[in-house]
Amino acid sequence: MHDAKAYSAASATSPLVLDTIQRREPTERDVAIEILYCGICHSDLHTVRDEWADFMPTTYPCVPGHEIVGRVTAVGDAVTAHAPGDLVGVGCLVDSDHSCRACSNHVEQFCPNATFTYNSPDAHLGGVTYGGYSERIVVDESFVLRIPSKLDPAGAAPLLCAGITTYSPIRRWGNIEGKKVGVVGLGGLGHMGVKFAHAFGARVVVITTSPAKAEDARRLGADEVIVSTDPEQMAAHAGTFDFILDTVSADHDINAYLQLLGLDGEITLVGAPEKPLPVSAFALLFGRKRISGSLIGGIAETQEMLDFCGEHGITADVEVIPIQQVNEAYERMLKSDVKYRFSIDMASLKGE
Ligand SMILES: [Zn+2]
Ligand SMILES: [Zn+2]
Repeated sequence: MHDAKAYSAASATSPLVLDTIQRREPTERDVAIEILYCGICHSDLHTVRDEWADFMPTTYPCVPGHEIVGRVTAVGDAVTAHAPGDLVGVGCLVDSDHSCRACSNHVEQFCPNATFTYNSPDAHLGGVTYGGYSERIVVDESFVLRIPSKLDPAGAAPLLCAGITTYSPIRRWGNIEGKKVGVVGLGGLGHMGVKFAHAFGARVVVITTSPAKAEDARRLGADEVIVSTDPEQMAAHAGTFDFILDTVSADHDINAYLQLLGLDGEITLVGAPEKPLPVSAFALLFGRKRISGSLIGGIAETQEMLDFCGEHGITADVEVIPIQQVNEAYERMLKSDVKYRFSIDMASLKGE
């Protein structure tokens, strides 16, 4: 085992502070990674504060972080896909059983025995897994992704969660070239949804409560912006959308967005509002509309997404911070005061 510096929370009400954790000695299938950047995902905050206690209680100390980009420092004897010096990424998953129906279908995120990057039982060391707010991590090679070398590593980190979360449902819907695609919400997820939908050739419409976001939406690739609190604008677009990506995690009226869909239109939820959303059956019946959900993506699809980003020069818009500002960043994230993702520069951990 190796000591590694990390930022951990000791309880649901504690701030993240400097800590020392253990990383395992690499097995023959493992890749040892020096972490360069780690994005801050809203799930990190939910987990640190034990806000998902009902279905995923947090074990403390908790080291979050599942948008990891780093440099390979060592590999086990059986590792073939990665070598020391490679720029690599680790997302929300670090292992699975490799044998169930989900794993056979390359959707390891739905494996009943998946090991998540943090707060998941650690089969090697006991306790729970520790995430990317750390100087190092050791991961099975089949969960380590190649990062195209021309991408900025700080901006590439959020691709590992926010990127795949929005790429996967867009790809799954089918060929969206020339289709009218709505993106509800322009935050960490939404801004990636806009970039991907635009890159796939859709006519992209951002649907937001905030008129102030219109200019930025267009800069990110939107063709049009609808202010959802304006009934006239909403009515003018009724029945015209092919697909809507709903990235909102706060309570909201999904029926208003169902009205925007045309025949056989689909809305996919990638945000996770705390309370159930009331759905009008009539809003679904007329037009044979569908509501679906999506959760990150499998490892093969995540690699496909990263390669696509490499070809199209796509990264997240990030504000790079030293890890000493992580608690302040959480408060700002709660106020949506970030464009559009924080990325922690892990070099800041070296001096501690
Ligand atoms: Zn995440
Ligand atoms: Zn499985």
